[in-house]
Amino acid sequence: MNKPKCIGILGGGQLARMSAMAAKRMGFDVAILEKEAGSPAGQLTSIEITGPATDKKLLRKLASHSDVITLENEFIDYHILEYLESLGKKVFPSSVTISLIQDKLIQKETLSKHNIPLPKFTGAEHKADYEKIVKLLGLPFVLKSRKMGYDGYGNALVKNKNQFIAAFDKLTRRHSKLLAEEFVFFTKELAVMAARTKKETCVYPVVETIQKNHICHTVIAPAELNQNILAKARRIALDCVKAVKGFGLFGVEMFYTKDGRILVNEMAPRPHNSGHYTIEGCVTSQFENHVRAVLGLPLGSAEMVNPAAVMINLLGKTNGSGEVKNYNNALRDKDIHLHVYGKRSSRIGRKMGHITVTGSDAKVILKKAKTAEKKIVI
Ligand code: ADP
Repeated sequence: MNKPKCIGILGGGQLARMSAMAAKRMGFDVAILEKEAGSPAGQLTSIEITGPATDKKLLRKLASHSDVITLENEFIDYHILEYLESLGKKVFPSSVTISLIQDKLIQKETLSKHNIPLPKFTGAEHKADYEKIVKLLGLPFVLKSRKMGYDGYGNALVKNKNQFIAAFDKLTRRHSKLLAEEFVFFTKELAVMAARTKKETCVYPVVETIQKNHICHTVIAPAELNQNILAKARRIALDCVKAVKGFGLFGVEMFYTKDGRILVNEMAPRPHNSGHYTIEGCVTSQFENHVRAVLGLPLGSAEMVNPAAVMINLLGKTNGSGEVKNYNNALRDKDIHLHVYGKRSSRIGRKMGHITVTGSDAKVILKKAKTAEKKIVI
């Protein structure tokens, strides 16, 4: 038998794990490079390389196993991807795409150049910029780290000068450069997944995302909005992918404003938490289409298989083992799809797994999902 094609993944968390499952199901292999052994994705493959992604020897090892390389977060310095490309490897998303995304200010400038609707924004380099920022954005505004922000770490709401100074000091301790953004009065937060290869594109339904403490908690698919707005959101998502010269699968987060506009918040060059519902909810999951896209294969349909799907993240409720403590109770509802990421330890608030329910009525399945989530203890 010929050796199956192998996808190298930089990172071994839950996104890599679910991508690896999709790859394996289609007969492909995966190689994982992650800091420590036994990561959620590392558990699924014998090609588990452990150590820092900055180590060139490890990168060469990953490349030697891989036909193509991808990643599960946008924090990998794009110079690392350039290095892999210099070894003659195809990398999706490419170093160029990541260089346009990983710095939120550059990302916004890039999207803005392509006429994508965004909240007003500006760089925030010095504390003395406060008056200039208020003049441009008004109050309140949001101060954000340009790099390494996730789940709201790296953001601060600013209502006055004192808060600005405090937030500036706090955020610059995490990462040196900041940007400021108009505070958006939104009625819904939306997300759209889109896949692109050299030959075709595929856009998933628009979903509504509900955050708790800045962490995506509940996803409702499809979002309840009129068809024109939904079509517009899908067009914008694809425009974003093209603007960053993206190939592979991308998640685009948006705000739907009180006055009926769609504004892009940010984009992720990888499968996204708001697309987990696609595993059971769509003909082809985001993970399978990611695998197909990076291998240059035809994409699968993004149509939903049921009228509605709801996904709720299972965040750690205790500090301890990463196992579900009460499988019997957790699986009592016959319509629940339970996903557990295999993380060795749980922390309060850590993403440990998720549940998905599909059905014909979003309100009914949302209630079911919420009830189930309360019962599951990790
Ligand atoms: P992260 O990269 O950490 O996920 P985001 O920039 O996506 O951070 O922000 C996290 C959440 O904070 C968003 O989902 C939204 O609820 C809120 N938020 C971010 N930017 C704005 C904004 N300009 N106006 C209003 N709310 C915002």
